[in-house]
Amino acid sequence: MEQVKCFIIGSGPAGFTAAIYAARAALNPVLYEGIEPGGQLTTTTDIENFPGYPEGVRGTEMMNDMRSQATRLGADIRTGIVTDIDLSKRPFHITVDGEKHIEAEAVIVATGASAKYLGLQSEKRFRGMGVSACATCDGFFYRKQDVAVVGGGDTACEEATYLASLCRQVYLIVRKPFLRASKAMQERVFNTPNIKVLFEHNTVEVLGDEDGVTGVRVRNGAGEEYDIDLAGFFLAIGHHPNTELFAGQLKLDEQGYIVVEPGTSRTSVEGVFAAGDVRDPHYRQAIVAAGSGCIAALDAERWLASQK
Ligand code: NDP
Repeated sequence: MEQVKCFIIGSGPAGFTAAIYAARAALNPVLYEGIEPGGQLTTTTDIENFPGYPEGVRGTEMMNDMRSQATRLGADIRTGIVTDIDLSKRPFHITVDGEKHIEAEAVIVATGASAKYLGLQSEKRFRGMGVSACATCDGFFYRKQDVAVVGGGDTACEEATYLASLCRQVYLIVRKPFLRASKAMQERVFNTPNIKVLFEHNTVEVLGDEDGVTGVRVRNGAGEEYDIDLAGFFLAIGHHPNTELFAGQLKLDEQGYIVVEPGTSRTSVEGVFAAGDVRDPHYRQAIVAAGSGCIAALDAERWLASQK
C-alpha cells in the first residue's frame, strides 16, 4: 500500500497553499483534487480582492496558477475523489475512488463548503453570468445597477447591505414574512434606503439572455407573479461544509463545520488538520482560506517532527 507523509484533501486556495508549504518543508505532499477541482473560485468570474493581482484575475486562472506553483515545488497533485477515510488509528487509511488505498501519517482536510442554490435550471444556466453566491466576490461588477439577494439570514442581510453601498437598488427576496437574521442586521437592512425587502416572495425563474441575467420572476404571498429588471442575482441561503466523510470521526459544530483548536488548524484527532471554508463559517474568503492552508501545513510539519 502507498505510504504518504502528508495527505491533503481538496484543491481550493486552502489545499493548494497547504501543498505549497508542505512541499517546501519536504513533506512530499499528495493532494487529491476532489469533486470540484479548483474549488468554489472556479465558479466565480474575476477576483479583484486577492492581493498580488493588480488587474484582477479569473478564478479558474488563479487556481491553475496555485496548482502549477504547488506542482513546481514538488507537490503530487492528483485527480480523484476520496471516498472513504478511517481516522480511528494511525497511520490513517484513505480510499480513493473506491479502489485505491493509501496510508497517511498526517492529513490536511481542505474540502471546502458549497453554497446552496435554489435548484432552478435558469439559475444554473446563468451561474457566473449574473448569478453568484458571493457578494463580496462579485458585487463590484454591478456598481450602480439593480440586483437582488435571496435569503433572510445574517448572510443575506450582510450581503444586501454590502451591495447597497455599490448598487442602485437591492431587492431582498425573503420567503417568510420575517427575517431570520439578528436584530442588529435587520435594523441595518431596514435603515438602508436602497434595500427593498420583498417578504413572502419566492423566485420562480431567473431571466436572462446570451449576455447574462436581465431580471427575475417572483411570486408574492398572494400567488401573483411579476418580473423585476436586474443585472445581478445573489444567493445567500446558506452554505454546507463538505464534511460528510468525517461525520462521527472529527468533532463538527452544529452546522457540520470542523471544529479546530482556536488559533490552530488542529482538529479533535491528533495528526488531522483542517483548513479553509470547511472550518470557517464566517469569513469564506480565498485569502483567508489560503492563510489557513499555510497554518495547517506548518502545524502538520511541526506535529510530524514531534513524532520522530
Ligand atoms: P441561515 O441558515 O441562517 O439563513 C438562510 C436563509 O436562507 C434563511 O432566511 C432561509 O429562509 C433562506 N432559505 C433557505 N433555503 C431557501 C430557499 N430554498 N428559498 C428561499 N430562501 C431560502 O444562513 P446564513 O448563511 O445567513 O447564516 C449561517 C450562519 O452564519 C448563521 O448562524 C448566521 O448567524 C451566521 N452568520 C453571521 C454573520 C454575522 O454575525 N456577521 C454573518 C453571516 C452569517 P427561512 O428563514 O425561511 O428558513
